[in-house]
Amino acid sequence: MEDLLDGLKRLKLRHTRDCVDEYCRVAATRDMSFYDFLKMVVAEEIAAREETQRVKRIRNARIPGHKTLSEFDFAFQPSIPKREILELETLRFIENHENVVLLGPPGLGKTHIAMALAYEAAVQGKDVLFTTAQDLIDNLYAAMADGTVKQKLRSLGKLDLIAIDELGYLPMDDTAGNHLFQLVSNAYERQSLIVTSNRPFEEWGAPFPNPSLASATLDRLLHHVSVFTFSGESYRMKGVNASL
Ligand code: ADP
Ligand code: MG
Repeated sequence: MEDLLDGLKRLKLRHTRDCVDEYCRVAATRDMSFYDFLKMVVAEEIAAREETQRVKRIRNARIPGHKTLSEFDFAFQPSIPKREILELETLRFIENHENVVLLGPPGLGKTHIAMALAYEAAVQGKDVLFTTAQDLIDNLYAAMADGTVKQKLRSLGKLDLIAIDELGYLPMDDTAGNHLFQLVSNAYERQSLIVTSNRPFEEWGAPFPNPSLASATLDRLLHHVSVFTFSGESYRMKGVNASL
């Protein structure tokens, strides 16, 4: 028995190792061919590994909360087309390396939709990161301080989807603007970006340190893109006006 457990450990067949006693019981009680028994053990190991990877992918995505599209009240937010948002959930935009931009004032559900899509992508096996624009820029600054900015950009470049929440709230200096440009440029036609912003497009140049960097970044971000512009009342205020 110890030899078997050691062997399974060396082969990193953790689930099989954990289930040895149970498999012995199954083998003794069920009328199974050796072939079917082995097939079952292998299938269970694969399923357990896939589940571990799924949990890891969701954790690595660092989505700040669990939101789903089914919780989204489209009737309260008629400014965006329900069918097109549900279409995004098929993740074809990720297969096609297209971007999604969600624009509009606070409280209208932009972050909700971005989180829901990021979660769905992670569940469906995509490598995802959800971040605020500020955290992204801060992390790239920190990476610059310890000389790892290239590695950081390279590892961001391996993801399938990066959701950048709240772009355009804070002005960027040359370094931050360049980092963002590099990220968007690496992603161009290779990855998908979801970007949320409270600024209309006309104002997107403002946070960038200079107009040419702004247009170079925005050209790439907005080339293959679906844009959704939210309007109306904040969901946070739902019911408040009625009760006033
Ligand atoms: P934004 O990012 O546009 O500022 P959020 O996505 O943070 O807005 O939405 C604010 C809160 O209201 C969140 O808790 C979100 O889940 C909720 N919310 C917004 N719009 C809707 C909606 N149409 N249906 C359900 N919940 C909503
Ligand atoms: Mg938001």
